[in-house]
Amino acid sequence: MCREKILTDNLDRVEKIISLASHKAAAPSGAVSLMAVTKYAQDKDVLTLLAAGRLHHVGESRVQQAYARWTNPVFAKYPVVKHFIGHLQKNKAAKAVMLFDFIDSVDSLSLAEMLSRHAVKLGKTLKVMVQVKLTDKDTQSGLPLEQARALAKQITALPGLAVCGYMAIAPQVDDAQQLRGLFRTVRQAFEEDFPADKERWLSLGMSADFAVAVEEGSTLPRVGSDIFARNLEDL
Ligand SMILES: *Cc1c(COP(=O)(O)O)cnc(C)c1O
Repeated sequence: MCREKILTDNLDRVEKIISLASHKAAAPSGAVSLMAVTKYAQDKDVLTLLAAGRLHHVGESRVQQAYARWTNPVFAKYPVVKHFIGHLQKNKAAKAVMLFDFIDSVDSLSLAEMLSRHAVKLGKTLKVMVQVKLTDKDTQSGLPLEQARALAKQITALPGLAVCGYMAIAPQVDDAQQLRGLFRTVRQAFEEDFPADKERWLSLGMSADFAVAVEEGSTLPRVGSDIFARNLEDL
């Protein structure tokens, strides 16, 4: 099978799983959009799906690499919503604010203040999400839920920023019920903190767990390897 066909089949499969899961969601928090995580994808594969009109939200986690890719006219002509989902180093903040529509991984007031200053300078409203940490492990970024909620409230006072939801990465757990419980706690906070009459996103779920995440109310699952690596390793 050719590479283009495998890629579109992968995307079809992911979208189908999302559609089934969103029908199963007990109380949908809103329409679900897929974020295609392009950080490890080859340029030619991203272009295949862009040219087919299949990508709307994309996620990147390295500023320099993303900047080089998405300012290249070959990519820049496609109107996609660009999300930064990695750990943002402060010395890359200015460049990130120029390129991205969303920074989904805000986890400190000092970072938010810096993004705010850059956004104001550019006359831009930058959308941001606060990253919630779902484990006690120190290696995970993000803030424990209650601190994340406090930060989201503080960000509403900063000019140039529009805070519009929570992002979280689930820990690897064997117990599906435990995973659902973690997603549910974030979802409940999200419903309380972000009213449905404004733009809002709840970004839970990656290749390993996006079906469960969408069933639990995620509106912006982030899928990379199930689109760009599945069945493609030896091509
Ligand atoms: C890489 C990444 C993803 C995508 O992971 P896959 O398992 O490849 O789907 C999603 N979210 C974040 C924050 C990531 O860094």
